[in-house]
Amino acid sequence: MSTEENIIKPSIPYTNPQDALFSGERWENLGSSAGGHTITGNRLLSDKNSSPWVLLLGGVHGNETEGVRFMEEFTREFVLEKETSPFPFNLYTLPLLNPDGFLSFERQNANSVDLNRNMSTKDWNADYTEERYRPGSKAQSEPETVILINLLNEIKPDYIISFHSWKPMINTNGPSQKFASLMTEKMDMIIADDIGYPTPGSLGTYAGLERQIPTITLEFERGIELDTVYPFARDAVLNSFNAL
Ligand SMILES: [Zn+2]
Repeated sequence: MSTEENIIKPSIPYTNPQDALFSGERWENLGSSAGGHTITGNRLLSDKNSSPWVLLLGGVHGNETEGVRFMEEFTREFVLEKETSPFPFNLYTLPLLNPDGFLSFERQNANSVDLNRNMSTKDWNADYTEERYRPGSKAQSEPETVILINLLNEIKPDYIISFHSWKPMINTNGPSQKFASLMTEKMDMIIADDIGYPTPGSLGTYAGLERQIPTITLEFERGIELDTVYPFARDAVLNSFNAL
């Protein structure tokens, strides 16, 4: 284990992980994870025609419960029981891309692949320095990655936020600076266009750098009380929508 990893606290697991699994009416079945769990998403169309699309994504890393908690509470406030988007844009919510890892409280999916190293980017490669960064046998080898890429191709989002936890930062990829700046009006967090180590095969590279979609990887402080996550970041996320 690296020195850096030692100073990062582990996340607090959910006492009831089922809370974060949304299904039922208006939830789309996007397919199954490597471990056979259903991955669901929710689309809420705006009343306006030809509105932008926003994609909010949680649980790419199953043990980063802070990000899943944000998505869970956002979903409860703005998605459940809604017929149309409460915002002036179309909203796609995917609270938990990696149910395998979430239910087992591990970073990777059931194939032990890091889903944020498995996207079909130009810099994807099969090498890895640590087990937790295993990128898969080839780019897009994992069903979760295929689900996410299919979704990106379909809705063509104009803004993406993916919720993670590590050292707290707003990690920007693509033309996302103004979105990040608006976040910092409501939340004390640094903006960084470089997370500090290489992330080949990541969503930030795939969507942000290579397709110029404003993409923010919001890293909550790992190990903070889960009850504090949503109040901390809610207004910042809402404020960032004003950049659309
Ligand atoms: Zn992560």
